[in-house]
Amino acid sequence: MAFLHADDPDWDPLLAAAWAARDHAHTPYSGFRVGAALVTATGQVMAGCNVENAAYPLCTCAERGTVAAAVGQGLLRPGGLQALVVVTEADRLTPPCGACRQVLAEFADHLPVLLANRQERALHDLADLLPHAFSGRDFIPGGSVPNLSKGPQGS
Ligand SMILES: [Zn+2]
Repeated sequence: MAFLHADDPDWDPLLAAAWAARDHAHTPYSGFRVGAALVTATGQVMAGCNVENAAYPLCTCAERGTVAAAVGQGLLRPGGLQALVVVTEADRLTPPCGACRQVLAEFADHLPVLLANRQERALHDLADLLPHAFSGRDFIPGGSVPNLSKGPQGS
């Protein structure tokens, strides 16, 4: 998998999954529907959408929901996140919010992030979206993040 350019065909299954997940977004308050999809080191695709709540602070973003689902399925461990797509129908491409950028950084140092709407795409690297991210390296002696995985991403 390459993910080197915004028009790389490797993005197609992620885009399809993200658009499909977006259809399930629960957005009765904002109507702002977001879909996300990621691919793991073993090529497994997981998608998700934003989920709003009447108690507004409890709303969850598509990106974080997707990461949580992948971890819960045993598909994603630190270092295992290979690429991410975020789709909306907004005229302006929708980047991950700050909280999601931090969550994504837990699972990949350099992550290709493709933003897309129905008209255009833009490719970014997570390291550009969140330079100098805080990580386990910042407080774990020896400076390395332990990979405790025994799952499919474990090596
Ligand atoms: Zn977010």
